[in-house]
Amino acid sequence: MVKKELLYEGKAKKIYTTEKEDKLVVEYKDDATAFNGKKKGQIQNKGVLNAEISTIFFELLAEKGVPTHLIEQLNEREVLVKRLEIIPVEVVMRNIAAGSLARRLGLEEGTVLKRPVLEFYYKDDDLGDPMINEYHIYARELATEEDVNVIKELSFKINDILVEFLKAKEIDLVDFKLEFGKGLDGKIYLGDEISPDTCRFWDSETKKKLDKDRFRRDLGEVEDAYQEILRRLKN
Ligand code: UDP
Repeated sequence: MVKKELLYEGKAKKIYTTEKEDKLVVEYKDDATAFNGKKKGQIQNKGVLNAEISTIFFELLAEKGVPTHLIEQLNEREVLVKRLEIIPVEVVMRNIAAGSLARRLGLEEGTVLKRPVLEFYYKDDDLGDPMINEYHIYARELATEEDVNVIKELSFKINDILVEFLKAKEIDLVDFKLEFGKGLDGKIYLGDEISPDTCRFWDSETKKKLDKDRFRRDLGEVEDAYQEILRRLKN
């Protein structure tokens, strides 16, 4: 599939149109940002690693009946996806307290939650992606109640699939972020990516962080952590 024009450049990816109206090419970059773009850097080979890691997760989810935007991986850094109109709401699923949840609820990082928590954030850089609830979504007409119900059901299902899959790889799925969009057919699909940029992965035994927190918190061995995740996923 030939790339036509650059449609959008984000912090970690570039999106190109193709000769097919309903297909886009996503190119994963090595650029890394954190704290709403205030911290910038590069993680060696991140684009290549995340393209492959995300493809493995999306293929697993598709096998289990989750509708996703993935069509196929084209090369090291590029995947072909179904064009979606992205719903400007990020869904965060959490199994273990970390990051902003640990701060907000005064929980020690690593506290296992009694049941998974689903949170919504309004995708708006200028506002710093504030946390919102369903009523904000309806008041701002970001999505319909019917769409939100589908998104919630899919998010819990995705969490169950990933937790089980990663447990066998000796990885704790602490939390992660999802984005959904509508296809030209009006159906809801999982979009964006699932990677160490968007998830917290801890080694089940040692609790070593194997994700972007190594970059956010200057812990070192960032590329090694992404490599380790890919190695375990392929085992
Ligand atoms: N996350 C993300 N993009 C965002 C915000 C959060 O991918 O814009 C992911 C993050 O990697 C983590 C989870 O969502 O796996 C929860 O993040 P949290 O709310 O704890 O935010 P943080 O304290 O890391 O800023």
